[in-house]
Amino acid sequence: CGIIGCVGRGDETLDVLLSGLEGLEYRGYDSAGVALSNGDLSVCKREGEIQRLQRAVATDLGGPVGIGHTRWSTHGPPSDDNAHPHTDCAGDVAVVHNGIVENYADLREDLRAAGHEFESDTDTEVVPHLIEDRLADGATFEEAFRAAVARLEGSYALAAVSKDSEAVLAARNDSPLVVGVGDDAAYLASDVPAFLDYTDRVVYLDDGEFARLESGSWTVSDAEGRLLDKSVSRVAWDA
Ligand code: GLU
Repeated sequence: CGIIGCVGRGDETLDVLLSGLEGLEYRGYDSAGVALSNGDLSVCKREGEIQRLQRAVATDLGGPVGIGHTRWSTHGPPSDDNAHPHTDCAGDVAVVHNGIVENYADLREDLRAAGHEFESDTDTEVVPHLIEDRLADGATFEEAFRAAVARLEGSYALAAVSKDSEAVLAARNDSPLVVGVGDDAAYLASDVPAFLDYTDRVVYLDDGEFARLESGSWTVSDAEGRLLDKSVSRVAWDA
């Protein structure tokens, strides 16, 4: 039900993600999780309150690139396995998702036939496996992410990280997603309160748009990969 992403805060990434998830608690949730990348990918996720995740998470969970999620279950009951982020078979790619992938059953069947094994009951888990399939064909992380998104029907705010990339990738259709523009850092969230402690400059994504966040830079593009000239606005908000 809530998404947070962060690039460019170095060792503070985990703290930014966890405080971002707290900033999204008002939306309601049944599980929470984070993934951080620094050449390796670490994932920690728990059913229940964010405090449970906080206790479970290794304090040395490092990496300058990260995503986090609070889940409001639609497919599969609340459980540690069904909590996001979800990963591919190799554990190299992690994805968080708000919304519903309507055609997940067909996609899962195709992926199973191609040898993928699933660990959750969620609609979301097809996404990292779709990315993995394209990476195996030699696609870049961004190409693979775009190809995966192109196969989805339904509603989504999505964010993904890979152990081999220093970017957070995102896409939106029918579910809110906003980029936060910091001086040397970039943020992503389903709603502004998640990163308002760090920046009040925001770029709202529209349906069909993709975002790429890197340390101190961000781009928004359309489904064909054309860069869009999005305006940065300032949030008038008394935090
Ligand atoms: N449909 C996904 C699930 O059930 C995402 C739910 C959400 O928006 O939190 O895991």
